[in-house]
Amino acid sequence: MTTTGLRDRGDGGTFPYDLSPWQQALRAQFPIITAHPGLTYLDSAATAQKPEAVLHAVHTYLTTANANAGRGTYPWANASTELVERTRAQVKSFLSDPEPDRSTVHFTSGTSEGLRAVARDWLPDLLSDGDEIVVPYADHQANVLPWLEARDLLAARGIRIGVREMPYQTSSGDYDAAALARLVGPRTRFVATTHVHHVYGADMNVHRIRAAVGPDIPICLDAAQSIGHQPVSVAALDVDFAVFSGHKALALPGTGAVWARQTRGPRFTPGGWSGTPNTAGVASLAAALDWLREAGTDRIARWTTALALRLTDGLRHLPAYRILGCQTSLAQDSPVQHRAGIVTFRHRSIGASDLGFILFSHGFMVRTDGHCQGAAGEKTSSVRVSTHVYNTPEEIDRLLAVLGGLE
Ligand code: PMP
Repeated sequence: MTTTGLRDRGDGGTFPYDLSPWQQALRAQFPIITAHPGLTYLDSAATAQKPEAVLHAVHTYLTTANANAGRGTYPWANASTELVERTRAQVKSFLSDPEPDRSTVHFTSGTSEGLRAVARDWLPDLLSDGDEIVVPYADHQANVLPWLEARDLLAARGIRIGVREMPYQTSSGDYDAAALARLVGPRTRFVATTHVHHVYGADMNVHRIRAAVGPDIPICLDAAQSIGHQPVSVAALDVDFAVFSGHKALALPGTGAVWARQTRGPRFTPGGWSGTPNTAGVASLAAALDWLREAGTDRIARWTTALALRLTDGLRHLPAYRILGCQTSLAQDSPVQHRAGIVTFRHRSIGASDLGFILFSHGFMVRTDGHCQGAAGEKTSSVRVSTHVYNTPEEIDRLLAVLGGLE
């Protein structure tokens, strides 16, 4: 059934080879990928490469309409203002916002700044002395530190709030919704969640969180690792904030957004004078979201999950490696089947950074460190392989061959 002549690994023949022509056409649109045939980029969870359409949109904007947005009345200024407003609407639609008239979109430099904006400019207005919030300590520290900062800020004003640890399931690495339901009490006011784990690649099953916490508690979603990789629906997840980085979704670095629903809790109004917006970045985000919609995030998810399963299966046959987080069983009912295109592992005796250097000597670019996990995270460095639509099963097989040679 393969169109590429690859032998099937333990993916049970389920690799979506039907998507190969689609994928090849998309891969060809990434100039940095096609210009470097000897290199393999496997660090998209850190930042993603940009398709020609995004580069072109930035060039077009800067050479035809570059001006400050929200100020001025001449055509370039108007075009820039319209671009920013149009992109806000586009973000809402990309996130399947069911009530776009009752939400706002605030552009940021990325997820870190976005989550901080929620913690700084909205959370304190929600909380009184004795209230509690739930924080996911084993997720990215960008989704831990801002909530602790808010707690400390409030404490300095004499308002003491409790921070409860989000419970996790040890077998699958996603949240333990049943334990969360037991944790939630009459003083729980806010729950911070992550859509896809940036180290384990686990889908955190946020769709179970609303039922666990009831209808009234605001939920914030860190969508840094899901945006552009799979459909992100604020309607389906019933969350109140969705925060993401544009640069992980094929747009320029320094882009991102906070989507905020205005129905649970106080209104989100980003504080202070935010100054000149990153208009070229917004142009890149608009083009990236168009590109992703056209490509189909559901197909991207099928492709990158299949790449991750291929790597997972290959590593299962190499005893020197241990995969972190998601379990290695490939059974159809295993949570690993829902993982995103991220696989993180350690070698029995070769340190992660040494392994990174060895892999780069073979042309593979991967992430090697502690991955900015929160306080409950891994304590030792590891190697993270993360994929996007431009990666191929051939690349995964070549990587496995190199890893196999280091057994
Ligand atoms: N949350 C998660 C889950 C992430 O993976 C990252 C980036 N690795 C961030 C937040 C922070 O994103 P940024 O660096 O774009 O602010």
